Amino acid sequence: MPADAATRAGAILEIDLGAVVANWRLLAAKAAPAACAAVVKADGYGLGAIPVAQALLAAGCGRFFVATLDEGIVLRAALGPAPEIAVFNGPLPGSAAEFVAAELIPVLNEPGQIAAWTALAGPKPRPMLHVDTGLARLGLSQAQFADCLPCIAAIGARTLISHLACSETPVHPLNGRQRTRFLAVKQRLPHLEASLAASSGIFLGPEFHFDLVRPGAALYGVNPCPGRRNPMRPTVRLGAKIVQLRKIDRGESVGYGAAHIMDGPGLLATAAIGYADGWPRSLSHRGCGWLAGKRVKLLGRVSMDLATFDVTAAPPAELYPGNMIELIGEHYGVDDAAADAGTIGYDILTALGARYHRVYRDAPA
Ligand SMILES: *Cc1c(COP(=O)(O)O)cnc(C)c1O
Repeated sequence: MPADAATRAGAILEIDLGAVVANWRLLAAKAAPAACAAVVKADGYGLGAIPVAQALLAAGCGRFFVATLDEGIVLRAALGPAPEIAVFNGPLPGSAAEFVAAELIPVLNEPGQIAAWTALAGPKPRPMLHVDTGLARLGLSQAQFADCLPCIAAIGARTLISHLACSETPVHPLNGRQRTRFLAVKQRLPHLEASLAASSGIFLGPEFHFDLVRPGAALYGVNPCPGRRNPMRPTVRLGAKIVQLRKIDRGESVGYGAAHIMDGPGLLATAAIGYADGWPRSLSHRGCGWLAGKRVKLLGRVSMDLATFDVTAAPPAELYPGNMIELIGEHYGVDDAAADAGTIGYDILTALGARYHRVYRDAPA
């Protein structure tokens, strides 16, 4: 009998859909009476947009956001006609008709997108309109908004959105300034549903909730309140199997570049995970794993397919090829790995690689 996928795989990613659903419910309760959508762009922040969205749909979430047209088309095919699916980037030139075909709601970000949508003949979904209030990324500038106001009335927009630049820093003065600018635009379009907050914005308080909130990262367990206790449940566990164990002497080097020199004799475990799996190379010399509840330091550089850990002090009974070193889990979460890698939890999750054997734990019915 051929070995099954979990036996063959070098690293295993467990995704807890029950935790994603619990996180959505927590955010929805916090934002109520505002509605709570789910942002599932970038393949559901690396967890799998389709299983995540299916679990959330079953739990009562009826509104989804993705970033691109193709993400929207794939999601529509998986979810069927019922839920609302909106596309943050809006129609790139030449693609507006595709939105209608897949019943995707475009977010119209700039005057050309508004013009393209207006020019499209026939029945079409009511679009969302994005105004910039301080992120200076997507959305109509204040001047563009003033210029476009006459045609905005004609496109039948249903929702007005903007996006916060500093919501993970509650004391940042830009939060209040963006809210004030958003209110000013909303006053000109009083009949539109309004949406300003993503994950961290939900925790800035009810005055940021408006009618609809759009969390992504917090659904997946990233802390929306950095520096404070994480209110979200972790959603992923990642483990890499030991491929080889070896003794090493004092003064010998470990890995590419001979970048780590042993300051004593030791025992090394080389595990089947590397930067090609999305395990960041910037964790070189800094990351760690856990073996039977004990921390094991990552030594030297992370290479493409492998990383080496100091298991000198680990329990001997745990040291055998095939045993798993935990890389994301209860001891060391996504935000911990991000801090050691010099990045953010969003980056750790969306990099989660295609080589992992993925195990989905279903949401309880
Ligand atoms: C990605 C994104 C979100 C979700 O942000 P999180 O911080 O992951 O909650 C919401 N709105 C817009 C416009 C986005 O681009």
